[in-house]
Amino acid sequence: MRVGLTGGIGSGKTEVARVFAALGAQVIDADVLAREAVAPGSDGFAAVARRWPQAVRDGTLDRAALAAIVFNDPAEREALNAIVHPRVRARAAELERSTSNERVVVHVVPLLFEGDYWKACDATVVVTAPKELRIARVQARDGLSRDEIERRMEAQIDPAEASRRATFTLENDADLATLESRSRAVWASLAARDSRPPERNAR
Ligand code: ATP
Repeated sequence: MRVGLTGGIGSGKTEVARVFAALGAQVIDADVLAREAVAPGSDGFAAVARRWPQAVRDGTLDRAALAAIVFNDPAEREALNAIVHPRVRARAAELERSTSNERVVVHVVPLLFEGDYWKACDATVVVTAPKELRIARVQARDGLSRDEIERRMEAQIDPAEASRRATFTLENDADLATLESRSRAVWASLAARDSRPPERNAR
């Protein structure tokens, strides 16, 4: 079973993925793969360094400098996506192939509904949280400014729309223990869907 897990910046999808992993999921995180795709020594890194030499310092990627370039310019963002996305897709497929059939595979994809990967999923889960809480959590985690966080939010689907399209919505408006118990409930529902005979499975 392939599950797509998404949510806007600071919604809590990494925390949910952690719970699913503890329950036995094979988690494949697109953000982690995106970092690996441009790791020093990779061909992705070489492609980025050719296009944006100003974002390379001492042989490593200055991620903040690159983010500043691409978040302010859609054409630059497209160019970076064209380098990163095919590599992420190839690696995700490879990891999925090496996973045993009985395991649920959870793909953590920040822009799940902005692209069409959701169509290839058996079920989708969106994590939502009130905007102010998300901003506070990201500020505490990354030290980004409110402006930068809001710009990133604007590049993402409206959470209410994501929620309408997802199979399950996890509201992350309380503490982490609450998020964990809600995640466990969704996991149980996913498992129930998985065990139904194929002809009764609403796909
Ligand atoms: P991004 O897309 O920015 O990577 P994300 O959706 O993966 O965000 P997380 O990294 O899971 O979000 O959560 C953002 C931050 O908020 C983390 O530091 C996380 O530990 C914290 N956090 C998430 N949920 C809660 C919660 N219910 N209570 C307290 N802190 C939380």
